[in-house]
Amino acid sequence: MEAVIMERFISEGKGNGLRALREIKPGEVIYSCEPFAFCVARDFLKTACQSCLKRGESLSRCSQCKTARYCNVQCQKQAWPDHKRECKCLKHLQPRIPTDSVRLVARIIFKLLSQSESDQEELYSIAEHQSHLADMSEEKTEGLKHLCTTLQVYLAEENCDLSRLPSGLDPVSLLARVTCNCFSISDGELQDVGVGLYPSMSLLNHDCQPNCIMMFEGKRLTLRAVRVIRSAEELTISYTDILAPSKDRRSQHWDELLKESQALLHRHSDVVPDRNIYMLRLLDLAMDACISLDDYETALEYGNRALGPYKLYFSDPHPSRAVELLRVGKLQHFLGRLEEARGSFTQAYSIMSVTHGAAHALTNQVQRRLSECQAELNTL
Ligand SMILES: [Zn+2]
Ligand SMILES: [Zn+2]
Repeated sequence: MEAVIMERFISEGKGNGLRALREIKPGEVIYSCEPFAFCVARDFLKTACQSCLKRGESLSRCSQCKTARYCNVQCQKQAWPDHKRECKCLKHLQPRIPTDSVRLVARIIFKLLSQSESDQEELYSIAEHQSHLADMSEEKTEGLKHLCTTLQVYLAEENCDLSRLPSGLDPVSLLARVTCNCFSISDGELQDVGVGLYPSMSLLNHDCQPNCIMMFEGKRLTLRAVRVIRSAEELTISYTDILAPSKDRRSQHWDELLKESQALLHRHSDVVPDRNIYMLRLLDLAMDACISLDDYETALEYGNRALGPYKLYFSDPHPSRAVELLRVGKLQHFLGRLEEARGSFTQAYSIMSVTHGAAHALTNQVQRRLSECQAELNTL
């Protein structure tokens, strides 16, 4: 067992929080855990494995519900305990598929009902999670009731005895807790492929200049320090990764999108600077479109323009900027601009060795790219 280096405490003015038990260096792993429950995000149901969350073109489909997809039999077997009861519900509701929060809460309910009393350490933390039910607006409460109706319809096939749920964890308050406390699970390309509940991580408070970052490998969450954290200092993350692209990069009509984004970029470029957040999104979109249309020179132009504002919007070091640097580096490499590519890969690597860690698949990919680049430069 690794030594525990964080603890719960009451953070002044913020309620529950987590703090460091000793000084922590940048890049150091503070905590790592599997979710209490998780599910694939609705947009990725057809393209992501329900077990390991890897994305693939040719996943096999659950023959029962025809909704769950898997890389192979092994992944399917591993996921079966979590999918077994859900499978009947999905089949029953076909072709409708409930929202992520409804599917996630159903999984939490199945898990709570199958757990023994002695195995409820995590349960307490869920029960303790704030549901914010009392201070919710009327509109939100209405939305919640609506979700709850869907949940009941969804669960109908499974005849759950909801009265056996631990006190304080009825469906409505579970839904409320999950909407406030679940995390998007993003993959290497920072696409939000799933949602998960990581009870102890919900204690982390937000800061615009956070000292920690959450990274995922599959559904495993790892919390890392991004700068030196003093002993007893509060651990914080940034809740607002507003720029993380959540759309599936492959499911777009690229030529139309490119035309639209170029027109918008052109129309606004005199009055709106690139560092405007909306312009940055357009630049990213135009870059994606150009790559898909094999116009790498133009893609690189957009990528380079976007890099500056990335630094402005994301606290440094940030995985989003590292991924952007990797994408720009790949383009430079492909176009034979080796010096530039080496520069981009070097920057991406120095960020990722802190945010992702040296063992992460993406960090290895950057390292490989960097040595390829170096080797090609050496032969010149
Ligand atoms: Zn898999
Ligand atoms: Zn199924």
